[in-house]
Amino acid sequence: MGSARSQKLSTSNDMVPVEGFVEVDIPADKLWRLFARPKLWPRWNRCFVWAYNTTLVKGEHLLWCFGPIKRWYPYVMPAIANIVELEPGRKVTWEVTALPGFYAHHTYSVDPLPGDRSRFGSWEKATGASFSRMKRFWLAHFNFVKDRSLEGVRALETIYRREGSLYSITEQRDPVSSMKDAALTALSAVAPLWFYRRYVRREAVQLAPGVHAVLGGGGNSLVIENGGEALVVDTKFPPGSDQLAKWVRKNIKSPVTKVVNTHYHYDHTQGNENYPKATIIAHERTPGYMLEQDGDYWNDHLGGLPSAGVSNDRQTVTVGDKTVHLLYPGPAHTRADIVVYLPDYKILAVGDLFFHTYYPFFDCSRAGVAIPGIIESIRRVAKTFPDARVVPGHGPIANISDFQKYAEYLEHLADTVRTALDAGQDEREAVRTIDLSAWNRRVLPSFHLHRLSWGTRENNIRNVYRVLAAEREGATLLSARPPADAGAQIGGAA
Ligand SMILES: [Zn+2]
Repeated sequence: MGSARSQKLSTSNDMVPVEGFVEVDIPADKLWRLFARPKLWPRWNRCFVWAYNTTLVKGEHLLWCFGPIKRWYPYVMPAIANIVELEPGRKVTWEVTALPGFYAHHTYSVDPLPGDRSRFGSWEKATGASFSRMKRFWLAHFNFVKDRSLEGVRALETIYRREGSLYSITEQRDPVSSMKDAALTALSAVAPLWFYRRYVRREAVQLAPGVHAVLGGGGNSLVIENGGEALVVDTKFPPGSDQLAKWVRKNIKSPVTKVVNTHYHYDHTQGNENYPKATIIAHERTPGYMLEQDGDYWNDHLGGLPSAGVSNDRQTVTVGDKTVHLLYPGPAHTRADIVVYLPDYKILAVGDLFFHTYYPFFDCSRAGVAIPGIIESIRRVAKTFPDARVVPGHGPIANISDFQKYAEYLEHLADTVRTALDAGQDEREAVRTIDLSAWNRRVLPSFHLHRLSWGTRENNIRNVYRVLAAEREGATLLSARPPADAGAQIGGAA
């Protein structure tokens, strides 16, 4: 909490903190136990329409949506904060930094009072240029949040007096999930500019003469131009795919004759049809996975399916007089990834073998992630190209040691989940006990099939838990079957 910004906040005169408290007839431990489950906030605190986290963990991101200040205003406001202080049972502080020129701390506290009572407090303060510019809006918002929070706790007191517990709030079945969908739909419709800027903004980086990485707006893309033709690695998905095509038209003089898909996922492939004259190249299993996993989309867009298949052996294509290697790294992020290497410039595009700075997505389908395959694949590729510059599937340009560090993250994640499985923990316990904050990863939102999904600590743990648990179950099933059958099973799953 000693950061320069939090120092500045504590001495800032931009605003008087917005604070308030209520004293209620609820024991502090019971109130805290409910408060510490953000997912349930919308059930008792009307300033929230949706919250993602199931628990409060120091160092983790907190994701939620505020409802509008007036019930009839047509917006919800997504928010992301970092939990910077957590005193279990007593208080939590998060900082909001996602808006440029806006820095805020919000503390909620629960203090025990004699006679099984408690005092619930809310304290908030902000500083920064964009805060000052819209100070009236923000102060109204902070007061709205404080008032709704205190009101909510008052309402809990009524329930507690009547029922002797807060059980009816925690066990309520579930008006919230449809609310959540509604909130997410609204979120995707009105996501404010900063959200777009932070997560969807496209950025082009020249890596070598005629070689550009176009980052963001879906999976990262690599564009290689030489000798009157061009190759695009990964074509993003709408609307980022259309922005990429526009960027290519503007900045690349030569026609795109080849497209490479590093793997079948929509955010790397749904822009394929923007290059109708190109040969679309992918691993030979990829078109099958596209139709099998995302058939709803691809059956209507057959022209975007890869027409040239790379097998498990190394292959090369050319762009002008540049050689481009296409390599199959083994089962990894999916069961059919391709890694692209440009030997002339030592540039390596690894697709989603690498989420740099972000929590990754795990595809738990039959076509999806292999654990520990992905870790082994990363290490093998890193060893083969020790001084390459790396274009990750998501996140900024990196080097090989960043790539190796990512393998360490995955290994740590798999090891801790395995330990949880060995200890007989269920998925929820694993989510509660595994701490990934030291890895300092950021959440990564994505829209798929008109729904917003997130790469987060929680679903990283959940997904790896599911993959490893299914593997164990599979192993038990296999050992119980006659050998011939087992062979067919292994062949089928490959
Ligand atoms: Zn992917």
